[in-house]
Amino acid sequence: MNTPSDSSASTILPGTVAYNQGVAQRLPLDDQQAFEDAKRGWLAAFPEGGIQREDGGTAWDMRWFDFQAGACPDSVNPSLWRHAQLNNIHGLFEVCDGVWQARSCDYANMTIVRGDTGWIIVDPVIAVETAAATLALVNQTLGERPVSAVLVTHCHPDHFGGIRGVVGDDPAQFPPIYVPENFTEAAAYEGIMAGTAMFRRSLFQFGVGLPTSPTGKIDGGIGKMPAIGTRTFAAPSDIVRETGEVHVIDGVTFEFQIASGTEAPAEFTFLLPDHGVLCMAEVCTQTMHNLLPPRGAKVRDALLWAKVIDEAIIRFADRTEIIANSHNWPVWGKDNALAYLSEQRDIYKYTHDQTLRLANLGHTPDEIAAEMVEPDWLSTRFHARGFYGSLTFNARATYQRYLGFYDGRPVNLNPLPPASLATHYVDALGGVEKVLELAQVAIETDALQWAATLLNHIVFADLATPEAKSLLATVYRNQGYRCESGIMRNVYLKGAAEIENGVQPIAALGTGRNKDLADALSLEDWFDIIAVRLNPERSRGVQLALRFFIGDRTALVEINRQTENVRTGAAATNGHADAEVTLTLEQLDQLSTHKLNVTEALAAGVQINGDAALVEQWCSLHDTFDLWFNVVSP
Ligand SMILES: [Zn+2]
Repeated sequence: MNTPSDSSASTILPGTVAYNQGVAQRLPLDDQQAFEDAKRGWLAAFPEGGIQREDGGTAWDMRWFDFQAGACPDSVNPSLWRHAQLNNIHGLFEVCDGVWQARSCDYANMTIVRGDTGWIIVDPVIAVETAAATLALVNQTLGERPVSAVLVTHCHPDHFGGIRGVVGDDPAQFPPIYVPENFTEAAAYEGIMAGTAMFRRSLFQFGVGLPTSPTGKIDGGIGKMPAIGTRTFAAPSDIVRETGEVHVIDGVTFEFQIASGTEAPAEFTFLLPDHGVLCMAEVCTQTMHNLLPPRGAKVRDALLWAKVIDEAIIRFADRTEIIANSHNWPVWGKDNALAYLSEQRDIYKYTHDQTLRLANLGHTPDEIAAEMVEPDWLSTRFHARGFYGSLTFNARATYQRYLGFYDGRPVNLNPLPPASLATHYVDALGGVEKVLELAQVAIETDALQWAATLLNHIVFADLATPEAKSLLATVYRNQGYRCESGIMRNVYLKGAAEIENGVQPIAALGTGRNKDLADALSLEDWFDIIAVRLNPERSRGVQLALRFFIGDRTALVEINRQTENVRTGAAATNGHADAEVTLTLEQLDQLSTHKLNVTEALAAGVQINGDAALVEQWCSLHDTFDLWFNVVSP
């Protein structure tokens, strides 16, 4: 086990028990059809003991979730518990003759199609360790064959990070790799500019560091959780550009639909017409998805999402016998497939339309979230429920996409920052003791969000007593215990852990950076990322121009007016430079993040034409970012 034991004393409030009992009464949780669907075609599972990394740690082990075998504990939303049990059904499954899926062998599914000469692998999951182990399981179970092609449905790392586990490390030996247009740019770019903040927040979303236990991590909605392993990248060879493109790949016909701009900026779906199998990539899953993940992202387009699913219905539904996506279990049968696609479409269309209806009636995001009601059909159709995204969060996201973060009310044009607001509130309410009293009453009357608001003000006024922190942790945990969304639960539980124990850096976590992928960034991207670290105090009055030569690429960087701009390519070869630097990308990274000073850089082979002190100055103008900033406290 690589997750810590659950040592925190966890108070389960009576309101939590009642809430979760209410969920159990309201929803048809004993519906067994999904369990039959998820088990159908099971062939084999990973060997006992899980999948290990080279450093001795465990990349994947479904025993982490063994505790979910029994009845739902009071500390878990029973709908989430049921969904978690479905995602626990793991191993290699036959979808139909010629198509298989490995499910819960990592966060995403790996789909395997039998080609004329070898295996066509769709989505080689997030980690090399799990990807290689899955391919070994396939070869062991179905017979040894080479990998004849790889398809990556979209640009999120849980679908390609393990690619070198199935194609190896020698680019000369790579099979054809098919991706949607703009895949590489999108894969490299997402999470780069706001990388530190997004990575820190993703630790909350995925509950990194939380134990898997009845009072800890339960499920990730679209699967259990990302495997903890080595992430890689391999340059694609074949680009799919248009809906309707047909490619015969190793003897198998693939009919593609472009879905870019829905769940991911670069994404395709495909039909295998000879098998009657439709893969909707991650556009459709067995849960409501995120229009905006809590880790942060650019808001996704709910309307386009609905329209792309509708287009898939028009193009593919009459030839679809089975839907086998890149997450969760399949849908079997033509009628079920059509109903499923229609409802997956409708959950995004409903969210979009109802949010804008309420916005156009004059309501603001928090009001819309409070007023938004589930469509009636959702109580019996689990595949569209919010095990990953949630209706209220998605409604706020839709508002943000169209109208932005500002709700139109003058008081919110320039609100007080949290610490200042908190100080005023605590003062106005009569001091910490009084606010604590009010919070206690709020907890007793089960007004948990109000309790959290009061206690959060104490924390941000920097007046937190151990009692206030402990109370806030209890409130957060109980809010988490009620969540149907596995990731929203994680956010609350991670918040509770950090409010009680402070920030606990995880040493082995690294930066989350995928080195293969960083190499795919453009030079302009590299310098734009560096410019995000320019410190305005230190760059006051500075005018500096440096030309960088990196391989056969050139960049001209100018700092003036406390602002840094970059030009690359032909535009970078002309123009005044105070000094010129020849170095590698890795040296640029190390220099600009102060891991290497100029003297060390020169000794390591960096060449400077001009005054080296100017390069030293340029480096010193940039901040470095610490991943472990405070989130739940000032
Ligand atoms: Zn995914």
